Amino acid sequence: MRIKSKLPNLTESIFSTMSALAKEYDAINLSQGFPNFETSKELQHLVFKAMQDGYNQYAPMRGDAELREMIARKIENLYGVKYCSHQEITITAGATEAIFNAVASVITTGDEVLIFKPAFDSYEPVVKLNGGVPVFIQLYYPNYKVDWNLVASKITHKTKMIIFNSPLNPTGTLFDVQDLLALQNLVTGTNIVVLSDEVYEHMTYDGQVHKSICEFPVLREHSFLIASFGKTFHNTGWKIGYCAAPKILMDEFVKVHEFNVFSINTPYQKAFATFLKDANNYKYLNTFYQDKRDLFLEGIKNSKFTFVPSKGTYFQLLKYDQITDENDVEFAKRLVREFKIATIPISVFNTHFLDEKVLRFCFAKTDETIIKATKILCKIQ
Ligand code: GLN
Repeated sequence: MRIKSKLPNLTESIFSTMSALAKEYDAINLSQGFPNFETSKELQHLVFKAMQDGYNQYAPMRGDAELREMIARKIENLYGVKYCSHQEITITAGATEAIFNAVASVITTGDEVLIFKPAFDSYEPVVKLNGGVPVFIQLYYPNYKVDWNLVASKITHKTKMIIFNSPLNPTGTLFDVQDLLALQNLVTGTNIVVLSDEVYEHMTYDGQVHKSICEFPVLREHSFLIASFGKTFHNTGWKIGYCAAPKILMDEFVKVHEFNVFSINTPYQKAFATFLKDANNYKYLNTFYQDKRDLFLEGIKNSKFTFVPSKGTYFQLLKYDQITDENDVEFAKRLVREFKIATIPISVFNTHFLDEKVLRFCFAKTDETIIKATKILCKIQ
């Protein structure tokens, strides 16, 4: 039998490759972004309790009503903006499902989607699966500044969506008010939709604050705001996220959601509905991760790697051009084999595999793991 692949050039994701390699060589895994410490015991008990209380059948299609209400309140507390919990919020199987639904609900054959590179790896295939045409805007190490005039020049009558991600995975860049105003300016008076991936909203450092698209009135009306509990509550394996969007967008989003997964597992939603009542459960995440980022940077300050401190996400980029001129994928693989430390090479997220000799390190790890890793990194000459 022959089938025509819809994604003929797609190979295994770098996250799978590096995590598998880390396992094979028993390496410290700072590649795929996930914590190596436990999610809250209280939250785990809330899940068991919800199961014991009989919440084991289908949840409502858009998600548990109480959880959607708690999310609406969380957004209002953080950003001062209201979303209707009945009509404008949907619980999803992680942010990844939300990204898929948002794209699938508005993109059709030939529609152009602007994507900033380096970009999280799911954006491009999802756009292509839906017949869309990704249009890339490459940003550069170390500051990854957006040239908004360049972005404006890429907009055509076919542009249907702009995918925006702040704090930005994989670079740790945080876009500021000026960037969001520029983005708002671009979409004002158009039918361009923004997909705003804000899964690292609670991880910003050095006193800098995350600005959400919803704080900008025109952007709020044009955007799918996507967030993740996995990142915020240290349980990426639970795969629960959500999307908030104005009714006109959400009505289309739920059509995809309903026939994609229908609804998300019930007991976990019940647990999050209770857990979110206490804002202390997520308010201090920036301090928690700032300590880890600082521990990591302190540990490598005498190494041959160079860096600009991460402004957000739980990733830190390190440049290694003073160590070797090897290609970043080759160097990353050698680090696993020879030094037992796994990282993510940035070129795989760039246009034309642009290699700026930069690797991504995930510092969502126990202090012990971070210290062990930095000691190894200091030995690499
Ligand atoms: N978001 C995580 C990262 O950037 C991993 C996602 C994945 O493995 N698909 O590392």
